[in-house]
Amino acid sequence: MQHIYFDHNATTPVAPLVLDEMRTCLAEVYGNASSIHYFGQQAKERLETARRRVAALLGAGEKEIVFTSGGTEADNLAILGAVRAAMPASGRPARHVITSAIEHPAVLNTCAQLQREGVAVDYLPIGSSGIVDPDDVRRALRPDTVLITIMHANNELGTIQPIAAIAAIAREAGVSFHSDGVQAAGRIPICVGDLGVDLYSISAHKFYGPKGAGALYVRKGTPLAPILFGGHHERDRRAGTENVPIFSAMGVAAANLPSTDLAPLRDRLERAVLDRVPDARINCAASPRIPNTSNICFDFIEGEPLVIALDLRGFAISSGSACSSGAVEPSHVLRAIGLSDRQARSSVRISLGASNTVEQVDALVEAIVDSVTLLRRISPEGRLVQIYV
Ligand code: PLP
Repeated sequence: MQHIYFDHNATTPVAPLVLDEMRTCLAEVYGNASSIHYFGQQAKERLETARRRVAALLGAGEKEIVFTSGGTEADNLAILGAVRAAMPASGRPARHVITSAIEHPAVLNTCAQLQREGVAVDYLPIGSSGIVDPDDVRRALRPDTVLITIMHANNELGTIQPIAAIAAIAREAGVSFHSDGVQAAGRIPICVGDLGVDLYSISAHKFYGPKGAGALYVRKGTPLAPILFGGHHERDRRAGTENVPIFSAMGVAAANLPSTDLAPLRDRLERAVLDRVPDARINCAASPRIPNTSNICFDFIEGEPLVIALDLRGFAISSGSACSSGAVEPSHVLRAIGLSDRQARSSVRISLGASNTVEQVDALVEAIVDSVTLLRRISPEGRLVQIYV
């Protein structure tokens, strides 16, 4: 059976050029980028080329890029680093951070850690649009607010947040602004200058790069305390010998993004599903979204059995976010946009990638029609529908 991948928000396959770069570096470029000899300088050159490429992806200066082990570490460094850096500057313990209810656990659980350390955190509620209201950010500001952290594109819904408007509010208030851009980088054009962010996290494995590689953009002059202590790597912002093969591969991924426009494919999928499956809804359909992501609620069935039914037919999609998959709790993101527990459990995420074709999408639609029909027939709720509708 052929297996077709529709879960690119969980991770993407590694592009052939990226793999070549990893192989070459692992085999040949084994020097320590801090060593002054030939081998070290070879590694350093690869690392700095990668830094230039990642900087170009974000419209940043190369000195503003800190390599990390992925999106999670970039988020931790941004949030813990900004808050800790603000403590001595304000002359009193930092006390307040603003974030949203739909952030990834990499942000939410870092904020929860700050709360355990005595920092107050406001989790802004989100309406049914899946979009943060900048006025809510303004209203949440306090004299002791030291950081605002709002994601750029949501991993489950794909909704794009009004980052530039929030950045303007942060700038006016003199508060640092971080955005988790892990699902945006490589999917929509990014210019950190236009966005107005101070800190911006990305992760290579979401744009056909390797897992375990990420970066934090740190705007020149932004106060940031390190969270790892050791050598003077990454301009004292992230200690530890740089993993040159994966950072170099990340640079290759950043410089060779696929140019496929996935929006027509996503729209074709959504139109076909809505036409062919009764009682299906696209969550946040009317909101600005990244072009590859579709979150669909199928009434009267659970998302998890649908994921399994489709997997058995050779199609990989996901219910909830990959990181919370397996947990029985309904998605916090879907709850935050006002879905009931039942509706949240009935929703699945389909995320397209560069290799998906019209034929694959059409085949997926057929499999969804069959699977939903079957599951509705055998589910207790499905039987109710047959009796009463
Ligand atoms: N932030 C968002 C929005 C994500 O979707 C993810 C991964 O799914 C992360 C952060 C974590 O990134 P990483 O897997 O590179 O640690």
